[in-house]
Amino acid sequence: MDSIEKETITTNTPVVIRSAVPIRANYQDYREELRKDFLYTCAYCTKSETESRAVGWTIDHYFPQKYAKDLVNEYRNLMWSCSFCNNYKKAHLPKKEDIERGITIVKADKEDPTECYEIDEDSLKPVPRDEKGKYNIAVLHLDRRELIEMRKRRQKLAGGVVDIKRGINALLNMNTDMFSGEQRARIVKLREKMKKDARAAGLELREFIEKRNHEAAIDRDVVNLEEKKTTREYLKSIDAICETFETDYLAKHL
Ligand SMILES: [Zn+2]
Repeated sequence: MDSIEKETITTNTPVVIRSAVPIRANYQDYREELRKDFLYTCAYCTKSETESRAVGWTIDHYFPQKYAKDLVNEYRNLMWSCSFCNNYKKAHLPKKEDIERGITIVKADKEDPTECYEIDEDSLKPVPRDEKGKYNIAVLHLDRRELIEMRKRRQKLAGGVVDIKRGINALLNMNTDMFSGEQRARIVKLREKMKKDARAAGLELREFIEKRNHEAAIDRDVVNLEEKKTTREYLKSIDAICETFETDYLAKHL
């Protein structure tokens, strides 16, 4: 492995930055601003709209409507989410004492998820760093097959991109001094062609990714039943089922 392959972009600040949007009466009217602010990406599983055309997309309420009626139309309580995550998250809300301990769903516009869980490079499954990570993985099913497949594709693409980039750069930056005039002219032509083809190849690659994502998205999830049972029991122990919360209290944690 050389330094190019190791090169990664790391940040501890949230990727999502909310715009200042005018107040609207209905949360559905924030849809386009929300999509843009969330970079067309699921706030919970990081899947992008391009990666999964077959999946539905929804506006999720960070604090569920059922617990926080006054926050239903508050922009800062809205999250762009794929329908899978939205469905898994539904009305899960930890107990008050757990919220105080910071056991909450990671809020993409406030936190960096990698602080509470990391993705194992071999299994591509999320590994919790703490209780918050464990809670997020369990509620959102971040170890689901669809996401492991997505991470596999990303890993492959990342590797492929490094190789392709290295090859193209070598050709584009090749020293032509050693060649004759005729050969140099051919190299110049070849470079021009490569630049033109890059766009076509990019479009083709995009089509390929979309197709692959579509196929993966309609696959049925295969989960270990025993693991599923353990997750359910864990969620039951940590969730505040039917507990009522003061909206002021919840707004404090937005
Ligand atoms: Zn998602």
